[in-house]
Amino acid sequence: MTDRSSHDRPFSKRSLAAQAMGLVEPVTKAVVPPIHVATTYLRDPDNGYSSGFVYGRPDNATVREAEDVVAMLEDAPAGALLFGSGMAAATAVFRALDPGDHVVAPAVMYWALRQWLLTEGRRAGLEVTLVETSDLDALRAAVRPGATKLVWIETPANPLWTITDIAAAAEIAHAAGARLAVDSTCASPYHTRPLALGADVVMHAATKILNGHSDVVAGVLAGRENDAFWQRLATIRKGEGGILGPFEAYLLMRGMRTFHLRAAAQAASAMALAERLSAHPNVAAVLYPGLPGHPGHDVARRQMENGFGYMLSIRVAGGERAAIATAAGVALWTRATSLGGVESLIEHRASIEGPDTPCPPDLLRLSVGCEDVEDLHADLDRALRAAHG
Ligand code: PLP
Repeated sequence: MTDRSSHDRPFSKRSLAAQAMGLVEPVTKAVVPPIHVATTYLRDPDNGYSSGFVYGRPDNATVREAEDVVAMLEDAPAGALLFGSGMAAATAVFRALDPGDHVVAPAVMYWALRQWLLTEGRRAGLEVTLVETSDLDALRAAVRPGATKLVWIETPANPLWTITDIAAAAEIAHAAGARLAVDSTCASPYHTRPLALGADVVMHAATKILNGHSDVVAGVLAGRENDAFWQRLATIRKGEGGILGPFEAYLLMRGMRTFHLRAAAQAASAMALAERLSAHPNVAAVLYPGLPGHPGHDVARRQMENGFGYMLSIRVAGGERAAIATAAGVALWTRATSLGGVESLIEHRASIEGPDTPCPPDLLRLSVGCEDVEDLHADLDRALRAAHG
């Protein structure tokens, strides 16, 4: 770390992230720390491990450095734990529960996690209730005091971008004796800090905007309290070998240095596109929490800052065929799954989620990247018009 002692005001998260929290390699003074690839560490003559590192499965210095940046971004007193994917991070939270525990999760959420809950989660003995968590009365009715151990929410939630009130959900969960975990992938720490709003654990698919370059699969948990539950999450990560690889951790750190710049640009473009597409003759609806007509707009304004994120969906007039034809007709947008990268992605979501998806067939999911927003708009406008003949 460089010496910050002469400075009299705290540095912003953007400054800290840009410099990887002032990390300087102590031997060479390199301002980009090396990637620690060792799987094992020299033991001291007295049989101890004075460096604190023993073996590469539970821990790795490059991984720890990236974890420190995430913990800083999320204001997470318990710290952060990096996993080999977002799914590995998310499922660890459910695996830290006991058979028979009741969990409540959103009816519309990241589809692969919903599928996992309904299959593997139930097979592990969890009682799973899916409910529209943006409806607080429905959430209140779904929790069972004493039996519900975890409320899981995602906000904004894939792919309809519904908003759940984090502070209210925390109150409901805690009153029932449950913890609240938040998948904040699509809000990102630039817009929302769920722990400050009462959540116990926040999860990110770091694959998305935290890394931001579509070249790393990673997941992370950040915790409010270093309690028995957090310790169990650490035991699962360390014992089961779900740790992120050091090269991926290095790439993630490199991505996070520009996180604030990317997140600001992508949210501004997403807002501009949402507004302009709302007036498009071939668009039946725009789903984006930044629009005043979005049902979650007021809650989003309360719990999100700096804008409303980089994800939106459009429902294409003319239905499924017109939606697929629109995706087929773009030249600048990239037709691919995933989200949060510097390149804008367009996806016909229902066809990837399968027959039991709650996603409407006319929906295109848009992940807004860093390209010129005028180019993005012109490309989509042309594809929409061409799809409608
Ligand atoms: N949560 C959300 C909101 C996602 O969009 C994704 C992936 O698309 C995940 C979790 C899972 O992350 P990963 O693909 O890194 O396992």
